[in-house]
Amino acid sequence: MQFIMPGMHRLPPLPYPYNALEPVIGEETLRIHHDKHHKSYVDGLNRAELYLVEARKTNNIEYIKYWENELAFNGSGHILHSIYWTVMAPLSTGGRPGQRTVFHVNQYFGSMEAMKSQFIDATEKVEASGWGILAWNPAWWRMEILQAGKHQNLTQWSAIPLLVCDVWEHAYYLDYRNRRDEYVNAWWNLINWNEVERRLELAMKGQVPLVE
Ligand code: MN
Repeated sequence: MQFIMPGMHRLPPLPYPYNALEPVIGEETLRIHHDKHHKSYVDGLNRAELYLVEARKTNNIEYIKYWENELAFNGSGHILHSIYWTVMAPLSTGGRPGQRTVFHVNQYFGSMEAMKSQFIDATEKVEASGWGILAWNPAWWRMEILQAGKHQNLTQWSAIPLLVCDVWEHAYYLDYRNRRDEYVNAWWNLINWNEVERRLELAMKGQVPLVE
C-alpha cells in the first residue's frame, strides 16, 4: 500500500491501445477522453490538494468552499475514470460474469437480466452529466445501483467515511439557531475517537461496520 502525496496523482495509462474498443468507442473519442478530459481531472485534483496544503499552513480558509468543490469534482473524476478504463475490454475479451458477481447479483436483483435492465435505465436517465454505478455497499453487505449526477455532489467515490458531522438545520437549529459555526465547534468535543479509530482500522481493510 502506498500513501499518495498531495499533488502527486498521475494519469494512468490506458490498459489497451486507443483503437482497441472500436467499433463501440472510436479511437478519437478515447484519445480525447483519456488524454484531455481525464488528464484535466488529475491536474485539477493535484492543484486543489497543493492549495489546501498551503491553506492549512497559513490558516487561510477564505476559499475553502471553492477548493473543497474542486477536490470533490476532480477527485471523483480521477477515481471514476480510472475505474472506467479498467472495466472495459476489447470486444469478446472481457469474459463472463464471475461466480461471486453472479451470486450477489442474483441475491439482490434476482437475476443478471434484472440488474442489467435497472443499470441501463438508471444510467440512461442520469440528470445531465454523470455516471451509472454498480456498487458494493459494505455497510449493507450487498450491491446497489446508483446514479452519480455530475459526480462532485457527493464524494470522492471509494472514500469511506470515518467521522461525519450533520449540518442539516434539524441537527442544530433549536440549540444554535443559525450559528452553525458554534454548533460545529461545540460538536467537536463530542467525538468518540475510539470509534473513529475502529472505523479507520476497518476501512484500511476496505470494510465498514454493518448497518442493518
Ligand atoms: Mn469522462
